[in-house]
Amino acid sequence: MSTINPQDWLEFGQKFHGHKCPAMPLGLRTGAAAMNALGVERAKDGQILAFVDLGEDHCATCYADGLQVIMGTTFGKGNIKKTHKGKWAVTLVDRESGKAVRVTPKAEAMLQNKQSDFFKKYREKGIPASKVPSEVVDPLIVKVMSAPQEMLLNISNVYDYKLEPKKDSFNGFVCDECGEMTVEEYGRIKSGKHVCIDCAAK
Ligand SMILES: [Zn+2]
Ligand SMILES: [Zn+2]
Repeated sequence: MSTINPQDWLEFGQKFHGHKCPAMPLGLRTGAAAMNALGVERAKDGQILAFVDLGEDHCATCYADGLQVIMGTTFGKGNIKKTHKGKWAVTLVDRESGKAVRVTPKAEAMLQNKQSDFFKKYREKGIPASKVPSEVVDPLIVKVMSAPQEMLLNISNVYDYKLEPKKDSFNGFVCDECGEMTVEEYGRIKSGKHVCIDCAAK
């Protein structure tokens, strides 16, 4: 099993993500550690599934883009899910082996980042990450990318994890009212017509 190197994904990750920040690279480090602990490859399909404890509208959600990039667990493939706990742990599950690992960025490392100029002088004052000068953000990225794993992350033992079998629906219909393509399971019957949720609500 080849080990995943987060550095190999930094440039692509920044391109995908849109700006330079320390949270996306932290996602790369965390995702790589989870994959290496579990001994899995980047997901081509839905081989691995990630549960990330992020919520909505809080700092460092950029972290999830690092996870998506490095693990191939993506919104499009549906193999990454938020648990809405407002934390940064990720639980990575390998469907084939039925094993999982939970990796958490260490609180001390995250608190230290929060004391940086990037947060204090820019982000907490509402300045978007893309407007932060390179000389401020670059050293922070280097720090996250080069920190020894034991300083940055808590990695659980590998444990058994039971997943329900995945079943994708390939069935669809055309809504009788709006004419839009709709997945069968999301259809509704309204006055004898086969309609989508939008049209059912009208
Ligand atoms: Zn970001
Ligand atoms: Zn409709």
